[in-house]
Amino acid sequence: MYTEYHNLNSGYVEVICGPMFCGKTEELIRRVKRAMISQQNVIIFKPKIDDRYHPENVVSHNEVAVKAIAINDIEEIHQYLKHHSVIAIDEAQFFSEKTVEICNELANKGKRVIVAGLDKDSFGKPFGVMPNLMAVSDFVTKLHSICVVCGRLASYTFRKTQNKDLVMVGTHETYEARCRKCYFEGQYNIF
Ligand code: ZN
Repeated sequence: MYTEYHNLNSGYVEVICGPMFCGKTEELIRRVKRAMISQQNVIIFKPKIDDRYHPENVVSHNEVAVKAIAINDIEEIHQYLKHHSVIAIDEAQFFSEKTVEICNELANKGKRVIVAGLDKDSFGKPFGVMPNLMAVSDFVTKLHSICVVCGRLASYTFRKTQNKDLVMVGTHETYEARCRKCYFEGQYNIF
């Protein structure tokens, strides 16, 4: 169970994951805002590929925004890190495997690292660096959406078109959340 009051003598890595529309960014923003209220020096990064709303903001679907730095490569974060005690990374599934090493290094230096991202792509497979980040992290929070077909808990992102491009930047027009049963029934119908 996640708590903000970890009795640890080091930094740590927290992963927030789940399908699209499950509130990952909202949860990241919630944690970041609370860290800011407690006078922590916070910095937020996101991949440049995710330009759905505003290039400089982490913007969640309910339009609560916190300023973030958009970068192409995860190694660029070193240019920005100064006396930050909390480092947040949104949409981490788009970053390279190098992210694992960097998050570990930061945690070993005493930093709190908050990483949010899609755990599975729209084919139901582990997404990029996320499974390895989950493995090395100290805390994992797996959120759920609501299945648009049956209304039960959803842990899959269903792509409504047959485009097999892996880059998942889109909104309700392209993707929807589905439970396991409705996801696999839908995949069978499409492919
Ligand atoms: Zn369902």
